[in-house]
Amino acid sequence: MKSDTITAIATAMSDSGIGIVRVSGDEAISIVDKIYQNVHHEKVLKQYKSHTIHYGFIVDEEGALVDEVMVSVMKAPRSYTTEDTVEINCHGGVLIVQKILSLVMKAGARIAEPGEFTKRAFLNGRIDLSKAEAVMDMIHAKNEFALQTSIKQLKGSLSDKIKILREEILYEIAYIESALDDPEHISLEGYYERLLDKSEHILKELNRLLDSADDGRMLKEGIHTVIVGKPNVGKSSLLNVLAGKERAIVTDVAGTTRDTLEETISLGNITLNIIDTAGIRNTEDIVEKIGVEKARKISEEADLILYVIDVSEPLDESDQDIIKMIAGKNTIILLNKSDLKEIVNEQSVLDVMSSITSNHLSLVQEEKEQSIGMCLDEKSDLTYQRIEGIEYSIYLIKTSTKEEYGIDLLTSLIKDMFFHGQLIYNDEVYITNIRHKEAVYDAKKSMLEVHKSLDMNMPEDFYAIDLMSAYASLGLIIGEEVGDDLVNEIFSKFCMGK
Ligand code: GDP
Repeated sequence: MKSDTITAIATAMSDSGIGIVRVSGDEAISIVDKIYQNVHHEKVLKQYKSHTIHYGFIVDEEGALVDEVMVSVMKAPRSYTTEDTVEINCHGGVLIVQKILSLVMKAGARIAEPGEFTKRAFLNGRIDLSKAEAVMDMIHAKNEFALQTSIKQLKGSLSDKIKILREEILYEIAYIESALDDPEHISLEGYYERLLDKSEHILKELNRLLDSADDGRMLKEGIHTVIVGKPNVGKSSLLNVLAGKERAIVTDVAGTTRDTLEETISLGNITLNIIDTAGIRNTEDIVEKIGVEKARKISEEADLILYVIDVSEPLDESDQDIIKMIAGKNTIILLNKSDLKEIVNEQSVLDVMSSITSNHLSLVQEEKEQSIGMCLDEKSDLTYQRIEGIEYSIYLIKTSTKEEYGIDLLTSLIKDMFFHGQLIYNDEVYITNIRHKEAVYDAKKSMLEVHKSLDMNMPEDFYAIDLMSAYASLGLIIGEEVGDDLVNEIFSKFCMGK
């Protein structure tokens, strides 16, 4: 199939060392040939071998010199798009690159849509959709984890996994179909158990992928963390200590943190997106009220709640409200201001919790050796305690944001809570794309239906249908069974020239 020839500026539009104008399509070489000359003023681009780069000049319609350039030629099918591709490396000024782009267009190329080069790579079968998306993720990567996962995805870690699962499902579909077609030679005797085993295995793999999606999101975007607590307990101070700089305004007057502040904080390999909220308490101040309502809402959506208590002040009704709010959420309670005389301790928190829940709760002292991961500071005897119960699994740490005591323990605990102390560059295939997560989720739903049909002794063609839809859902990830609309939507999010 003949394709038109597209062009775009592939580098950032700013003053820079070089700029690259990319041209791809059947006419790429002959189009650039019209505006390129070698040092002998010859137009010889067509004669160059594939994968070679040449010094020369770009000239305009009148033959006037525009820039000195290096031009690389990559002939089909061994190029990014699988089409003939020429890249013009010119000087990096905005005007120069734009001028060369417009010359290429006058010579017959049309401007590429965002992501169109990668779209061609996908449509021409060189890469699958998950790899194309990995290219975009690489460009947008904001931290080392995001970069590493997208490189792995580009190399095919996710595609390989999905392809294996699809093959396994397809084998079962084919087996059932053949048995139904040819019952004399292929028996479904004992098949029920085999398929049950198989579907359990597939469900396990799908669940692992779904779990990785949560870890993946938190590693890529950060753990959505909210700091709650009454006014004046040290929330802003905590934020400052974690951020390592004066960000929130710290004052002695209760309720000064009126709205929410957001701060992205790197703790080694992981990122916390910390939201500092207005103090949670009953108040008539309307501005504070907005802050408080917002705080509640944010807490509901957070991955982690840091609940700060001032140990020098007794717990009151507001603390009860907060404790109700943190039920069932990943929470660390900071017994802050532990440099002052302590009125509140772990036991007092347990007592308040016990008074508002009918569940049995107990306080567990984490032994140094037993504590998760390696989060204890070897030099000190800092440990943390944990409140265990059906609704609550809450860690308690003594801190002093003033003396920066307990802060290292807090950061290690967060790492351990979320990533089980593992370093993140393991071989796990992570899902970091919401589209992929939805597809895996749909596949899981279909596989659960397969299970149900097997349990209910339904006829074979029932579960064959669900196997088929699991197969189709997973296909969406690598770009099989996707419609034009979706393809267009995905690539429209790409940047120009990619
Ligand atoms: P917020 O209203 O919860 O954000 O509390 P702030 O961070 O503004 O702190 C209120 C007051 O408590 C300030 O005067 C802080 O210096 C003080 N403070 C914060 N953390 C500690 C601590 O660990 N120990 C002591 N003694 N004072 C603290």
